[in-house]
Amino acid sequence: MREQVIINENLSLRRTDAGARFVCACGHDLADGSTNFKEACAVRESPTADIGEGYASFAVEMAAQMCFREFFCPDCGARLTTEVARVGDPYLWDTAPRL
Ligand SMILES: [Zn+2]
Repeated sequence: MREQVIINENLSLRRTDAGARFVCACGHDLADGSTNFKEACAVRESPTADIGEGYASFAVEMAAQMCFREFFCPDCGARLTTEVARVGDPYLWDTAPRL
């Protein structure tokens, strides 16, 4: 693994003496690279219609079972990622780099 792998504008995976670590662009160490970094984030969960215009569903009952989650750095507040999931489901583990 290179010294740092950029995942998005605010999130990267960095090699350290303690192994691969998820790190925010502000430098905040979030989590071990082999874990779901979302567990270390501040989270806002809202109805999917709050994503924006055009995201409201005509399937009202289905939409009520879904939510929009935003994951933020607990230090600087930068948004690190988002997901749409069923209300009550665990956070999607969709960033799992091979180390
Ligand atoms: Zn940060």
